[in-house]
Amino acid sequence: MIIDIHVHLGSIRSFYSLIRGWVTVYIEDLLGYMDEVGVQKAVVLSVPRKDDPDSRVVSNEELLRTVQEYEDRLIPFCVLDPRENNLGDRLSRLVKLGCRGIGEFKVRLPADDDSVVKFLKMVSDYGLPVLFHMEEGEYFYDVFRLRKVLEKFPDMAFIGHGPGWWRHISKQPPSKESYPKGPITEEGMIQKLLREYENIYADISAYSGLNALARDPEYSKKFLSEFQDRVLFGTDFPCLSITGSQFGVNREHLNFLHKLGISSEILERILHLNAEKILFRK
Ligand SMILES: [Zn+2]
Repeated sequence: MIIDIHVHLGSIRSFYSLIRGWVTVYIEDLLGYMDEVGVQKAVVLSVPRKDDPDSRVVSNEELLRTVQEYEDRLIPFCVLDPRENNLGDRLSRLVKLGCRGIGEFKVRLPADDDSVVKFLKMVSDYGLPVLFHMEEGEYFYDVFRLRKVLEKFPDMAFIGHGPGWWRHISKQPPSKESYPKGPITEEGMIQKLLREYENIYADISAYSGLNALARDPEYSKKFLSEFQDRVLFGTDFPCLSITGSQFGVNREHLNFLHKLGISSEILERILHLNAEKILFRK
């Protein structure tokens, strides 16, 4: 059993030198990837278009409509902008229509902004998990300001993703480098948060997650063993890898985990058990 905690439908812009323009996937492409790779369920995430003009993914109402007939396989997450009006009504409407979580929460706001805290308070009434995209000074920044919301909402499952999250697997990330390389000589902020708070999880999707684990495979084995109940398999399909192939379909994340030599118990947790705990908790 495999659950991909991080996929999208719609269009993503490529900035890689070998592919120009927009890559667009439809529901049959998503299901095709899942069938081919053996992924039984996937969390399909909305992205706020205003804050991220480089993705035109199928969002909120349209997403909920699109995945409706595949409810046994596709789990929709929606996003709202904490700065907008009528959030309570809009959230309640999305939940009624089938929204199962908040994500991809990629907003140009500090993680502990008052508007974010107010919005999360509404989200907490529904017991929904929140998957965020973190990028320093850009999106939901930063790991140091995350503590406040983790503390304020101890029953809310937060799922960390993005370069602003994963670069802090190491204590001294080079100042501007989004995807630092090299061995982990000193542990960083994310280990601290994972140890201190039980409501924070991490998804290994996209290049940010893959790079953080691949930069020091020996350390990653220890990391995945210690945090085996907190790490989630994800790909960020249909986003592109720097090799010009497509995450998910290229099996990069899956192959990496298989090759690392972690126990089958740990693998099972990362591939689906942890996600089940978050997605199907009563
Ligand atoms: Zn994404």
